Amino acid sequence: MKLIFERGGTGHGSAILPSCDVPAYSFPESMVRSSPLGLPEVGEAEVSRHYGALENRSFGLNDGAYPLGSCTMKYNPKIGNQLASLRGFADIHPLQDDATVMGCRAVVEKTAEYLREITGMDAIDLHCAAGAHGEFAGLLLFKAWHASRGDSARTKIIVPDSAHGTNPASAAMAGFSVVNVPSGPDGRIDLAALSAAVGPDTAGFMLTNPNTLGLFERDILKITRIVHDAGGLCYYDGANLNAIMGRVRPGDMGFDAVHLNLHKTFATPHGGGGPGAAAVGCKSFLTPFLPGGERSIGRLKAFHGNFLVVVRALAYLMSLGRSGVPEASGRAVLNANYLMNLIAEKFPVAYPGACMHEFVVSLESFKKERGVSALDFAKGMQDLGMHPPTMYFPLVVHEALMFEPTETESKETLDEMAVALTALYDRAVADPEILRNAPTSTPIGRPDEVEAARHPKLKYAP
Ligand SMILES: *Cc1c(COP(=O)(O)O)cnc(C)c1O
Repeated sequence: MKLIFERGGTGHGSAILPSCDVPAYSFPESMVRSSPLGLPEVGEAEVSRHYGALENRSFGLNDGAYPLGSCTMKYNPKIGNQLASLRGFADIHPLQDDATVMGCRAVVEKTAEYLREITGMDAIDLHCAAGAHGEFAGLLLFKAWHASRGDSARTKIIVPDSAHGTNPASAAMAGFSVVNVPSGPDGRIDLAALSAAVGPDTAGFMLTNPNTLGLFERDILKITRIVHDAGGLCYYDGANLNAIMGRVRPGDMGFDAVHLNLHKTFATPHGGGGPGAAAVGCKSFLTPFLPGGERSIGRLKAFHGNFLVVVRALAYLMSLGRSGVPEASGRAVLNANYLMNLIAEKFPVAYPGACMHEFVVSLESFKKERGVSALDFAKGMQDLGMHPPTMYFPLVVHEALMFEPTETESKETLDEMAVALTALYDRAVADPEILRNAPTSTPIGRPDEVEAARHPKLKYAP
């Protein structure tokens, strides 16, 4: 496909400007370009078709279901975007007089109030730009609190082996060293291993619950007590809250701080690099250290962060209402269990039993027997017009495929997905070669993912 720079040509541009009615000004020679800027000159139809063609080459929500795990909420209600586009929200300036943006301040305060209730925290800060950014903020709170008590020995953050990669990374960025605790045979925290890991050097513990295997930590109160008894603090990674929102609260499970990804659970589309926002919550003993507090850890983002993400979150919460919030999480869990049970016969669930909003299957033995890997299978799904699930995560499961249907898919869609997955499985058994060569129907086949990640071509060289 051609780039926009390779389309059009001199005179194709369709802007018709009025003749200049101010005196011409000659810039000093040193400030004048020696060659033209090299912008594309394209007509309106060419531009429109170009972007239409790009859209046709990608897979979006309007094309089908999107079972990526660890990324809750795929369908973002249109009303959020509609409200975030209102001029009173979209056209304000951060340096505007406070008195002229009281409505926007009310949006932030109202959202914080609802999220305090949902998380069971005493304070919510809304200025961080991403989940990892929120983790960093929360860990700085822990650090500041230990320092305020003169406890300089607490230098370690404990992280389970099933954790999202950002957890150890944020801990390292905040200046802690990371201690890994292995999961038990049931995929949950091993209490004995945790007890052995905590000590006078423990600053805190980070946990995703339900964890990245889609399992709720049954012993959650014991877990947070073990950490607290050792003098550490508990951090809840609530990036994906749609298994539990409106039902149980991190604050009641014994957590001291939490972040929520508003771009995963609260109606801002995610992927493609943002903008996102994290709500960072904490208990009252940590509030003085929040950005803006008396003993602030410092500002982490300019002004009020990505304010329009907060607008979408509030629109979502208000449109669901008090009864709609737990209903959404209930449906997310029901849908995941329904799909898991439909396909479990062919796709062995890594840790069998009821799941929360997502579940992980392992194709390890399938790969051994048939030579078809989880990657091959995901590529085969693309040829059937399906978006693949998350692959090779969490790392504790080999040949993992992690499915998360979410609350917005209908029973019929899940039935269709199960039929298609089962048919693809049978095809892989009959002719593994087909999957090893998939996809054949997409604009590109199998890119070199390492090369694409390490040396992305982000610049156009004419
Ligand atoms: C996505 C995610 C994060 C990180 O969020 P970003 O906004 O991508 O920084 C952290 N933890 C979990 C469990 C996640 O799914």
